[in-house]
Amino acid sequence: MSRLDADGTFQLLARVLADTPRLDGAACAGRGDLFDPIEPDEAPDDAEYRTTAAARLCRTCPALVDCAQWVDSLPAARRPAGTIAGRRAPRTRGPGRPKKKENTAA
Ligand code: SF4
Repeated sequence: MSRLDADGTFQLLARVLADTPRLDGAACAGRGDLFDPIEPDEAPDDAEYRTTAAARLCRTCPALVDCAQWVDSLPAARRPAGTIAGRRAPRTRGPGRPKKKENTAA
């Protein structure tokens, strides 16, 4: 396993942040608890209340347009989880039951 020295760490951070807009005045600053992804064990009413509050906060945000454009510019796999740009966090499914194997024996 390789370790980054200070210069390597700086270069890595610079690459990560280069694709991130400034989003001045973001209404979510300091309210990450509202915007986090829904936990599998989170009570449905709590998740509904929390994600609704987050999406409502986005609608007052002066950075909403820039935020939405940034999220839309990202490949789906790189989009932040949770509520963002007024779009509520989707409920993720728990592991659930294992799928039945198809009977392929003839
Ligand atoms: S639109 Fe929502 S997620 Fe985006 S910066 Fe504003 S408050 Fe944060």
